[in-house]
Parts: sequence; structure tokens; C-alpha cells
Amino acid sequence: MRIDILTLFPEMCNAYLSESIIGRARKAGKVEIECVDIRDYTKDKHRRVDDTPYGGGMGMIMQVDPIYDCYNALCEKTGTKPHLIYLTPQGKTLTQKRVRELSELDNIALLCGHYEGIDERVIEELQPEEISVGDYVLTGGELPALILADAVSRMLPDVLSNDECFEEESHYSSLLEYPQYTRPYEWKGRTVPDVLLTGHHANVDKWRRQQSLKRTFERRPDMLEKAELTEEDREYLSNLK
Ligand code: SAM
Repeated sequence: MRIDILTLFPEMCNAYLSESIIGRARKAGKVEIECVDIRDYTKDKHRRVDDTPYGGGMGMIMQVDPIYDCYNALCEKTGTKPHLIYLTPQGKTLTQKRVRELSELDNIALLCGHYEGIDERVIEELQPEEISVGDYVLTGGELPALILADAVSRMLPDVLSNDECFEEESHYSSLLEYPQYTRPYEWKGRTVPDVLLTGHHANVDKWRRQQSLKRTFERRPDMLEKAELTEEDREYLSNLK
């Protein structure tokens, strides 16, 4: 899969994308992620890409041409029309379900706004999918684009090792994950639940499933409506009520 991040701050994105799991996956060719500098597509001699808003008001607005030309150059370079996503607080909130769907595409391009946002006409012309990372406002789309690129990349084959598998993680199956522990066995008088030391896999699995159900019930009961539950799960949950 190829992910292109269209941004005014490619170095900011590259710094994150060069480290840890995503950095290793890029080096190993499991995912291709490129950061494209929108400023390279301005025709302004001072390399400006923004201007003041018509109608007055605070802040600067990113202009249409550099964004439009940047996306078209990407289409030409890759010989494809990557699925374009504009990261914006006005978009649909990102979910694990959408992350999984996006990870099945071959090419996505992530457009990062900055300052007060981007000129509406380029949104009308390119018709990107609009995605938000939550109901709050950041200074730019770079962190949201990195969130999306990270979440999508870790769903790709062989990006995570077997012991980092995502299938039991929070949100994957509409349940929150069970609590996790590592050494030392005792810390500040708190010990690890005994069942985890028994080596009895069926009991460990059962305990984890029940903890997962309990957490979701206590913290995010709304998620249980979408979760696939067995008869045993339902019985366990009914005892919690
Ligand atoms: N004036 C815009 C509004 O009220 O909708 C907000 C602009 S924000 C300061 C600048 C850029 O940051 C946006 O164009 C967008 O790319 C990004 N951004 C900010 N918050 C975001 C969020 N919650 N999700 C996704 N992108 C966000």
C-alpha cells in the first residue's frame, strides 16, 4: 500500500514516520509512505501558499492552486488517482472500522490543512473524503494524518509481528481490551491476577474475555451494541447489571 501525505511540513511528518514500528515497516517495504511538500507547487516567487480570507477575519487560508497542482502531480507521478482524504475537524470521526476499510485500498493521499484551513473551492473540486480525529481543533492536519497513516499501516500484512497482533485490541471487535501485566509480579503491594500465572490457556482466555466485556460495559457500554457476543458473554454481562 502507498500513502502520500500532502503537507506544508513534511519534516514534521517524516520525523514520526522514521521511528519504531512504522519506520521499520517502511524500511522493509511493507508500506510506502511519502511526504509531499505542497509549497513545491506554488508559483509565487516568495513560495507563499496562503492569503487572507475574503470577507475579513482572523488567520490565513491555504490557496487552491498549490493543493490542486500537488494532488494532480501525485496522480501523474504514481499513474493512479489515490483516494484523497482531507483531515478536518468538520469530517466524520475516524473509527477502527474505517481504518480497516482504508487499509484495503492500494493508494491513499492525506491532505493536511493549516492556519485557518483551506479555500472551499478546492474541496468542491477534488471532493475528498473528510475525516476528523475528534471534536477538538488542532493547529494543522499533520497529527491527524499521522494518526491515520499509523492506524492504517499497522493493519497491513506483516507490519506487526505475531506478538503484537491487533485482533484482540480495543475497538477491533467492538470491545475494549482486557488489562495487561508484565514483571515484576508484585508492585506497591499489587500482584498480578493469579490466573495469568497458571499456564492454563483456556482459563486465561476466559478471564481475558470477561475482563474485556466488563471494561467495555463499565467504560463504553455503547460499544456493546455492535459487538459480536456469544450466549456465554451475554450471561456474564447480565450478571454485571
Ligand atoms: N477553521 C477550521 C474550522 O473551524 O473547521 C479549523 C482549521 S484548523 C486550525 C487547521 C487545520 O488543522 C485544518 O484545516 C485541518 O486540516 C486540521 N485539523 C484541526 N483539527 C482537526 C481535527 N480534529 N481532525 C482533523 N484535522 C484537524
